[in-house]
Amino acid sequence: MSIAENIARIREEMARAAIAAGRNPEEILLCAATKMNDADAVRTAIAAGVDICGENRVQELTQKLSQNAYAGAPLHFIGHLQTNKVKQVVGKVDLIHSVDSLRLLTAINTEAARQGIRQDILLEVNIGQEESKSGFTPEDIPVLVEQIPSFSNIRLRGLMAIPPISQNSGDNRKFFEKMYLLAVDITAKKSDNVCVDILSMGMSDDFEDAIACGSTMIRIGTAIFGQRNYA
Ligand SMILES: *Cc1c(COP(=O)(O)O)cnc(C)c1O
Repeated sequence: MSIAENIARIREEMARAAIAAGRNPEEILLCAATKMNDADAVRTAIAAGVDICGENRVQELTQKLSQNAYAGAPLHFIGHLQTNKVKQVVGKVDLIHSVDSLRLLTAINTEAARQGIRQDILLEVNIGQEESKSGFTPEDIPVLVEQIPSFSNIRLRGLMAIPPISQNSGDNRKFFEKMYLLAVDITAKKSDNVCVDILSMGMSDDFEDAIACGSTMIRIGTAIFGQRNYA
């Protein structure tokens, strides 16, 4: 299957999942998770109509930017971001999905202020409460949202999660449902620098469940580009 065929199939599956949940398919954006795929593969995905490109590693982001790989699509950063690398990401991407600590939030705000811009971000929630994953606890989120107005060069657009690797389809629904409730909770809080309209959840193996539970942005790698070669 080609990248274009994969994307066409995913679009159909997205639409089916949305309609089954009584949702408008247009509410859900498809972000191509482009890690370990080269500039040509990224260009092919953009030409085939993905809504967004999401990059994981700063080095790959910088390299593909220099190759003009993302032309024609918004660019997001979706991987773990070290505070010493924020300069290479802030202002270069439209949205950072993976803000997982107060320290990183502060560093992004400082860099955005230095550049004289406002950076859109999501807060990453460690929804499965896994030791191995970064992110805020669900309990942290309402407290943090209260603090966002003091970060004047940040705009909070919503939440992101990577639930545990699941054995059976449907296993992650309980996490997606929890994320949805958390997002509804903070959407109700209207305050400065907070404009929550994005719930980033769902990957190749579970995006239909994520859509059923209210996802507005799915991040798909393998189902678009095939298995990544880690060798
Ligand atoms: C790689 C990655 C994805 C996509 O994963 P697939 O299972 O290949 O679809 C989504 N989100 C993040 C943060 C990723 O690193």
